[in-house]
Amino acid sequence: MTTKELISNSNRYIMNTYSRLPVVLVRGEGVHVWDSDGKEYLDFLAGIAVCGLGHSNPLISGAISKQAETLMHVSNIYHIEPQIRLARLMVENSFADKVFFCNSGAEANEAAIKLARKYAHENMDKGRYRIVSMKNSFHGRTLATVTATGQERFQKGFDPLPAGFGYVPFDDLPSLEQAVTEDVCAVMVEAIQGEGGIRVPADGYLEGVRKICDDRGILLILDEVQTGMGRTGDLFAYEASGVRPDIMTLAKALGNGFPVGAMLATDRVAASFTPGTHASTFGGNPLAMAAGISVMDALLNGGVLDNCREMGDYFRRKLNELKAEHAFIREVRGRGLMLGVELSMEGVDIVNGCMDRGLLLNCTCGNVLRFVPPLIVTKVDIDHAVDILDEVMRNL
Ligand SMILES: *Cc1c(COP(=O)(O)O)cnc(C)c1O
Repeated sequence: MTTKELISNSNRYIMNTYSRLPVVLVRGEGVHVWDSDGKEYLDFLAGIAVCGLGHSNPLISGAISKQAETLMHVSNIYHIEPQIRLARLMVENSFADKVFFCNSGAEANEAAIKLARKYAHENMDKGRYRIVSMKNSFHGRTLATVTATGQERFQKGFDPLPAGFGYVPFDDLPSLEQAVTEDVCAVMVEAIQGEGGIRVPADGYLEGVRKICDDRGILLILDEVQTGMGRTGDLFAYEASGVRPDIMTLAKALGNGFPVGAMLATDRVAASFTPGTHASTFGGNPLAMAAGISVMDALLNGGVLDNCREMGDYFRRKLNELKAEHAFIREVRGRGLMLGVELSMEGVDIVNGCMDRGLLLNCTCGNVLRFVPPLIVTKVDIDHAVDILDEVMRNL
């Protein structure tokens, strides 16, 4: 099929939930992808912070194909060897004692919400069930997670939404303090807001959230679906603060492109999930676990996190140089290789112009260019990307 035919079939057969760019990506290697016409792109979106170790990474692909030839799926009513190995790796390298595996970020957050409710029913005063999350947040698209998502545009048309959620502005401790009333059982927050425009809270914010939770005896749920797995230069973003959450969710980069989600918790909280309380047919399936194990191995034993920090600093410096050149750049922000460039105008023309010139990125909130390249990106790649950006910005 020609590209034109592919796109026309895509529009004919696939539900219209995305406004898709007119490109069909068919192959990837490292930081590059190719479309159905053979055109090469530098991929600074990486499946939206998913392919942290680059496209078609032979370590991950090798582990997946080897597992596919050994055992692809068995039920969770049996113990699953690769699941045990990945859970142990995650526990030994985080605050958590126990892991629940699922298949996406929304599912991980859904599990977190259910666990918090269950824990509250069993351990807190009666009538504590509400979850307070942040305005401008993003937690997923299931009914509960879209309700936790503090953005009306994602909720419109889906009411009645589940009861028991409330919102406060992000990075605003006094508002949170006020919002945590007698009926609240947990606070749910991203370490850095991703879909909300790469918003990094002030130093001490997470510590403040932790303190409010501790003072009121409620749970802290940290959504690290986007910030986790090395994206910010640490394995998990919370490590940069002194804070340990009670529950943490992961997905995106955990399988480097293979769908995997995880919800981690301390023993105290995890004890509320007992047989029959929550489950997933595919969650923790051997193939997904093989992907996750190889990702964890690569992050723990290679120089990937160091590269992320160094390249993050370098890229940020380069973006700030662009800021000095272009008056419409308001701010460069982020941490590690999760960077945003806020514009004083819409970003769509820049995204399209970059795509024409062979650079993929996207735009959140209409005016924040988002850069989440593979963590193995090099200076040469960054220089190339910044040259394309500069050229596009000059030609606007
Ligand atoms: C992407 C994202 C989700 C949702 O993940 P899905 O896998 O699309 O369900 C949840 N939280 C955050 C912070 C995300 O970035």
